[in-house]
Amino acid sequence: MKLIDNHCHLDFPQFDGEREEVIEKCEEDLELVVNSGSDITTNKSTLELSEKHRGFIYPTVGLHPTKIEEKNEEDLEEVLKMIRENSDKIVAVGEIGMDFFHEKTDKGREKQENFFRKLLELAEEIGKPVVVHSRDAEKQVLEILEEYDLRSVIMHCFNGSKELVDKAVNKGYFISVTTQVLYSKRVREIVETAPIDKILLETDAPYLYPGKEKNYPYNVHESLKKIASILGASKEEIGEQFNKNTREAYLGVF
Ligand SMILES: [Zn+2]
Repeated sequence: MKLIDNHCHLDFPQFDGEREEVIEKCEEDLELVVNSGSDITTNKSTLELSEKHRGFIYPTVGLHPTKIEEKNEEDLEEVLKMIRENSDKIVAVGEIGMDFFHEKTDKGREKQENFFRKLLELAEEIGKPVVVHSRDAEKQVLEILEEYDLRSVIMHCFNGSKELVDKAVNKGYFISVTTQVLYSKRVREIVETAPIDKILLETDAPYLYPGKEKNYPYNVHESLKKIASILGASKEEIGEQFNKNTREAYLGVF
């Protein structure tokens, strides 16, 4: 069965020298991948890569919260412009969000929130799903999301508590489970908590593989195997379900 990796970074330098080879291998095992931009540079490389592999790599454009510290209003305007100009190509606005693990100061967190809100406003306006990063800020991020009328919300790499999983799911948000499920107890609990029709698979490649080794999008197959064993379910059945969920999360654009 071919799966979908709904969040990776195949344009990142970690794949230099092997990128096309990796994509070929991905095409054997995967139906498609969603590649997420995280700042001006990677938004550009994401758009270029998806153009080159149209119909297999789908782009999202955004501004990652950990990149916000070094950015100013002009950079934000540039990202908003990129989103508008490519709104016919992108499948979501992302990644966007807040990260309190990396940002400890009130001033920095406030700036993250301001930027996040501007990006959410635009996503609301153009009717695109959002891919949301919320490390150590899950509670605050969920509260902010509630204020917007968004067509689809994908909680990327979600690591919140059981209570917050319930809260997100009750809002109709999707919980995207990374390859952390191979080694993280917290993520295994999330898999047990979230309803099967709200779970998506992602790798966040090149990150989040056990032992900090380089991750590859086709490793979603390892996650599927693991999740099937956690839930005592058949790989085929839940794999099909996850693919269906992903299409729904991205509003049926693929
Ligand atoms: Zn990512």
